[in-house]
Amino acid sequence: DELISQIAAGEVVERPASVVRELVDNALDAGATQISLKLQAGGIRSIVVEDDGAGIPVEELPLALRRHATSKIGSLDDLEHVATMGFRGEALAAISSVAEMAIASRTSQDAHASRLDARSGELSPSARAVGTSVEVRELFFNTPARRKFLKSESTELAHCVDAVRRHALARPDVSFAVWHEGKLVEQWRAASSQQRVKDVLGSDFEAASRELLLERGPMRVFGRAGLPEASRSRADMQYVYVNGRFVRDKLIAHGIRSAYEDVLHGNRQPAYVLFIDIAPELVDVNVHPTKIEVRFRDGREVHQQVRHAVTQALALSRA
Ligand code: ADP
Ligand code: MG
Repeated sequence: DELISQIAAGEVVERPASVVRELVDNALDAGATQISLKLQAGGIRSIVVEDDGAGIPVEELPLALRRHATSKIGSLDDLEHVATMGFRGEALAAISSVAEMAIASRTSQDAHASRLDARSGELSPSARAVGTSVEVRELFFNTPARRKFLKSESTELAHCVDAVRRHALARPDVSFAVWHEGKLVEQWRAASSQQRVKDVLGSDFEAASRELLLERGPMRVFGRAGLPEASRSRADMQYVYVNGRFVRDKLIAHGIRSAYEDVLHGNRQPAYVLFIDIAPELVDVNVHPTKIEVRFRDGREVHQQVRHAVTQALALSRA
């Protein structure tokens, strides 16, 4: 089972940033309003994610680490209507098979927190407010080939911060803080979505971008499309979300690029933050372990509406 978990981990855990993504997903699923990340050595030596969410009842702590143990799917029917970020029940099991892990948690019913050490299975009393802390240390200590594949600490740190940035753009109502080696590197306080875009992507982007909004039947496309001068600060400002989940999707990217070509005739990499909210039965988010890819029931329609929404925003800004 350990081996199976390690193999599954290969799909889920590629680098420290993959751990960050999963742990922040879990914190958000638990209803956290404040999430803080403490990293050491770019996350390779240590990642600690603390949240003020609902916590895990002490008797369920060992379950949280087991494969396919999820508290988020009640029936098969739920699979079609998952609102939570994670639902495969694999992340913690996978991570704990390739790193040292401990979870400390406390619910509002508990007199004190409890801490579970994944390796020893030892459960001990601990101190913290209601919520959960997950510690992941020495990533890939037992799979040296994978550890060697990691990039420099600064590159891994940058990926970790980007993983938080992706969540932060989608959840302006939640406060995020990222610490590295004891220093605060990013902090985004709960804010309006427009303010969050400013805080996360910079006021330059915010000033050089236009709001986009298109509602049609079961689909709503919204966000901000950067004008050509918005792409200067960073090359990789392309954020796409489907039902609040960050995705990479060729179809959507193509729809956006076509709009940029139509209106601006530019070949520069456009900068944008684009959200698609769509009826859950029209999209399959369960296609890839890292949940970064989606499949739409009607891809052509999505492509068309995205292209239309971006065209509208860009064309208006030129008029
Ligand atoms: P999944 O998120 O797909 O259910 P995970 O392996 O990521 O699977 O987590 C397993 C379970 O552990 C979750 O279903 C949840 O019950 C619990 N859990 C994990 N992290 C947290 C957290 N930060 N707060 C509350 N519960 C958590
Ligand atoms: Mg999860």
